Amino acid sequence: MLSSGKSRKKNDSPFQLPYSRVFSTEYENNSLKSLEIALNEATAYQAWKTLDPGKEHSIDERYLALPTLTKKDIREHFPQGFLPHGRDASSGLASGEIEFVKTSGTTGDSVTNIWNQRWWDASEKASWKLNSYASKAASGNHPEAILANPLNVGFVSDDVDLPMEKRRLSRFLYLNEKSNPLSWTPQHMDRMIKELEIYKPVTLEANPSLLAKLCRYIAMSKKKVFQPKLILFTYEYPTRFHIQQISHVFNIPLTSSYGTTEVGYIFMQCEKGKLHQNSEYCRVDLQPLKPEHGGPSIGRILVTTFNNSWYTILRFDVADLAHLDEEGTCACGRDSGLILSAIEGRTASVTLTCKGRLVTLRELDDAISVLDGIDEYQLRQVSRNEYQLQLASQRTDKKTLKGETKEILSKLYGEEAKISVAFKEALAPSASGKYVISQAIFPIDIEDYLDHRFLHKEN
Ligand SMILES: [Zn+2]
Repeated sequence: MLSSGKSRKKNDSPFQLPYSRVFSTEYENNSLKSLEIALNEATAYQAWKTLDPGKEHSIDERYLALPTLTKKDIREHFPQGFLPHGRDASSGLASGEIEFVKTSGTTGDSVTNIWNQRWWDASEKASWKLNSYASKAASGNHPEAILANPLNVGFVSDDVDLPMEKRRLSRFLYLNEKSNPLSWTPQHMDRMIKELEIYKPVTLEANPSLLAKLCRYIAMSKKKVFQPKLILFTYEYPTRFHIQQISHVFNIPLTSSYGTTEVGYIFMQCEKGKLHQNSEYCRVDLQPLKPEHGGPSIGRILVTTFNNSWYTILRFDVADLAHLDEEGTCACGRDSGLILSAIEGRTASVTLTCKGRLVTLRELDDAISVLDGIDEYQLRQVSRNEYQLQLASQRTDKKTLKGETKEILSKLYGEEAKISVAFKEALAPSASGKYVISQAIFPIDIEDYLDHRFLHKEN
């Protein structure tokens, strides 16, 4: 049954995506509006105009005929190329409606974006509706603690400890000012525990690797910690080990909030565990992987924002892979747009089996998560058949653990895989402040693995 005002799109177009979607008329209208503003007003998209097949084609066909927007494009056309008619960056900056915000980025160099706080807040607020715990707990004025790398958000101070009042900003408390988590001392983590008790945040937004580190300390030292109403994961991929370690300490709902600085809040995990599209604020197009690499359910996602009158973003490649839910429905009843069973991880995190099949971070994580007693791991593929795994583990039977690990990885990557396992006390994040859990150190062009029927072809 379809709810009123919604239409199910099905046609015989060669552009037909391998799933059916339910979208509101408003979504279709917003998709059209964003497309027209980009092509007719924002000069960054000028070269795309000739590729648009035109109004007699469906909105999906028109989007699919267009290329993707990359960080490089943003750098080249920033800022004026992304402003619609009548908007001028200097007047927006002068009135305080916008700011320029630089991202640390995990793919390519960092990018400066136009930051429209009002739009961002509205996008965030809409995302809360997609999780019943968030919609109950979050008012928009609620106190929130953030445990992140300050290179991504907050205040950096590596040499001097900042007192609590110097880490406050509106309703937020930033628990950490150190850019390298390896420098965290027990005193630093005790301070976080104490401040959670003092501040009593309703929500805790956390970089999962950092919260997992704090939770390992809390569990080991048998301390008690204040329990907010909800933990939201953001900034990086939460591994199963992270989730286990955090659930051991926090007996509250955990959810993944997925978005980026460029495009706001894209998906939110509901209380039943699936991820729902924030379709009031963005359009998502999925470019499926080839069937032999996990398509059509797994694909690269391209995001178009709606109604951000200061920043026109069309088909932005967020450099992540998502897994469409095969049932296409959720027990929570929401049908606002695409439903994902999971985020599969960064495109920069993919590795290849010895036979050349693409392995997403999630597939690796699912495989490796059966191990016991692991704090953290990092896998580097150094050649077609060589894999180096670093493990941080408190287990004393390292030889057994090594054997178990090699068995899992050779099952995943192939019999001929040459696997080395090295033990580390702890693992460090990358220069961007985020952990790289897996990567191939040789170039992999993700487009070689995407189904070419859904890729823009250069004329
Ligand atoms: Zn749901």
